[in-house]
Amino acid sequence: MRKKERKRDYNLQWNKNTTLLLVGSLFLLMICLALEATHVYRLISTYRGFVDSSITGQTGLDAELVSSNLNADIQVIRSTAEQLQQNENYDMDELQIYKLLLGVRNKSGLDRVVLIMRDGTTYSSERYSTMSGLEKLIDQSAEDGSATVAKTYFDFGDGMASYCIMMPVVHKGIVQGYLFGLNSTTQLLHGTETDTYSQISRSYVINEKGTIMATSNSDVMFVLQNDDFYTDVLKELSEEENRDLMEEQLRKAFAQGTTSVLTFHAKSDDWKIFFAPLSEPRGWTYVNVVKESDVAALVKGIKVESTVSMALVILLMLLLCFIIFKFVMSEQREMLKLAFEDSLTQAPNERYFLAQAQKLLKDYADYAYCVISFDIQNFRYLNESYGHMKADELLRLMVKNVEKDLSVREGYARIGADRFVALLVDDGRIIERVKHLEERVSKAASEEMINYPIKIKSGFYEVTDRKENVAAMIDKANLARKSVIPQTKDLVATYEDSLMEETRRREFIESKMEMALIAGEFVPYLQPKWDMKNNHIIAAEALVRWKQGLGEIIPPGEFISIFETNGFIEKIDFYMLEQVCKYLRKMIDEGREVYPISVNQSRYLLHDPNYTLNVQQIMLKYKIPKSLIELELTETVFFQERERMIEVMEELKRMNMDLSIDDFGSGFSSLNLLRDMPFDVLKIDKGFLNETNTSESGKFILKKIIEMADGLGVRVICEGVETVEQAQMLMEIGCNYAQGYLYSKPIPMGEFIEKYNVPINGQAAHE
Ligand code: C2E
Ligand code: MG
Ligand code: MG
Repeated sequence: MRKKERKRDYNLQWNKNTTLLLVGSLFLLMICLALEATHVYRLISTYRGFVDSSITGQTGLDAELVSSNLNADIQVIRSTAEQLQQNENYDMDELQIYKLLLGVRNKSGLDRVVLIMRDGTTYSSERYSTMSGLEKLIDQSAEDGSATVAKTYFDFGDGMASYCIMMPVVHKGIVQGYLFGLNSTTQLLHGTETDTYSQISRSYVINEKGTIMATSNSDVMFVLQNDDFYTDVLKELSEEENRDLMEEQLRKAFAQGTTSVLTFHAKSDDWKIFFAPLSEPRGWTYVNVVKESDVAALVKGIKVESTVSMALVILLMLLLCFIIFKFVMSEQREMLKLAFEDSLTQAPNERYFLAQAQKLLKDYADYAYCVISFDIQNFRYLNESYGHMKADELLRLMVKNVEKDLSVREGYARIGADRFVALLVDDGRIIERVKHLEERVSKAASEEMINYPIKIKSGFYEVTDRKENVAAMIDKANLARKSVIPQTKDLVATYEDSLMEETRRREFIESKMEMALIAGEFVPYLQPKWDMKNNHIIAAEALVRWKQGLGEIIPPGEFISIFETNGFIEKIDFYMLEQVCKYLRKMIDEGREVYPISVNQSRYLLHDPNYTLNVQQIMLKYKIPKSLIELELTETVFFQERERMIEVMEELKRMNMDLSIDDFGSGFSSLNLLRDMPFDVLKIDKGFLNETNTSESGKFILKKIIEMADGLGVRVICEGVETVEQAQMLMEIGCNYAQGYLYSKPIPMGEFIEKYNVPINGQAAHE
């Protein structure tokens, strides 16, 4: 799967979580909305109820206020009338009466105070204003001599109608005249206009008959002229057919003298009529007429405010959610990247591959698959020679080119330094694709100044059981890759079950080796080297055997190569050298015949800077003459690590050690070796001998090698001589020494001692 699809895959994982989060948030949001809507609804109805009761309360207060305004005026008129009544002789002249009336007007809030005598003489606080028309009201005067409040239409400059308080002046049971106190209805309603709802309500003061005594609304002066609340106001509020019913309801309600409210449905709107009785004069009512839509408009403000604030809160919530989502998304992406991506190359890592491969194998059940494990041959060398930066670049090139080649049905991962794994559709072209990849990476690398042929080493595992653990598949492909022999051309290997057995064997050996060394389970066997001409032993080779607890013997072929890869061979080689030295010392000390013993030395020893010193120390420890020890180095080592080999050999030669080249002819033998290396013995590999059996040319070459060695003063010994014919043939071509089953197999030391280390009469042969 390519990077792009991988990203999509990450999104997929993100989406799952986000959808959950989103659905959860939306659900919460819905709940919030529902709660908020209920809250607003309840707030509005509460507010409406509050407005209603508030206007009702306010109406009661206003009624009290009007009542006290009126009573204040009545009191003034009453006390003035009483003052006049006490003037028994009525001997006040016009000026005095005028002064009295003026004084009363000035002290009270009245606009005008008028006295009309029985004979029609009129006195006014405005000296020259007669206020004609007032006398008509005298008829309305109460017969019991109490104050009467009537309506007049004098305008005292505020555009409003006026009212008057009328009081008879009685003296000795005879009405002498009438005292009038006039005032603007503005004064009557003084104080009510400041209430909270005055903006939306029309206020009326009506008397017991329903006559409008005062109104807050100057625009409806005409109403005052028509006088009647039920006629004029209800006409405006209701349809004709409802009017009678309304009037009846209102009259009844007003007559009860309680503070309350009535709602009416009218032409275009609903109306609310709030009313409260005036405590004085009796039967009067203070009325507030309010349009429902005006109350609704008041409430609307709250509605709008609540809705806007709710919308804002929701918007903020959404914004917050969005920011959180963004944050979570990027965090999650980073986490997924960390969890599933290799930071150096951005390639998927093994963890990602395990899941992805499993999914691909399931999703594309019809396709045959192959797991391939591959690495870059000699990457360590590239790393050291070109530096880490270039090597990293090479890895990135690898990733880029691998990605280019993959289909959506395939996946890959970087699982280690230069190690990759891929799940490929097995279409019979996989090796071809790997070669193609190798070419592309090599070309791209050369453009990056890495002038080294890039070789890809790969191991294949054909997926047969799709249910198998992907990690196990990778292990198998890895095993195949590791089994690739570096010198081969194609650098490709396929997994076989034997590889797994090998691995198990390797693991078993590795788990036991350390303890086995301590327990002395590694023992040297000795195989004689033979002088064929004179038919006697001349030397021997020490060959390691692993003798396990139960007596089972493991041959070196099963563990040497493992020890060579894990480095344990170093310990074995020194151990063997020491065992051989110990044995020789014992033989010498016991005065037995001794023969030089050759000991195999691994190439890994060459990398130990103390190698030659350690050899010397062991020899010195057991006081072994140099001539009794020969060190065998295999031919492959010469070929691969020539320089180092020459260096070490020269050092050993300076120490007078005998050196031999083992397995000559088994690998890429070079005659130059014979020239350049300071060695004493050439051991011809047994494979070479097999070759001479069948071909004349092989025999010829062997003869020439022997001649050349002779010429160089090097002894030649042939390994693996099993038959008399072979021995004969060797002697014919000039090789007199042999090592092989014909003479003896490698035998335990005790047996060897018995057979060959025979006691020398008298004294030891070597000191
Ligand atoms: P090598 O050093 O070439 O030893 C000779 C091998 O040839 C021995 O195998 C020996 O048993 C076998 N051989 C000798 N004569 C005949 C014959 O006539 N016919 C056949 N078929 N084989 C014959 P062995 O003991 O199994 O050792 C195998 C290899 O293991 C050795 O080859 C050597 O490379 C390595 N080796 C053994 N011991 C040590 C050790 O202590 N250290 C190291 N580094 N390598 C060791
Ligand atoms: Mg050997
Ligand atoms: Mg050999």
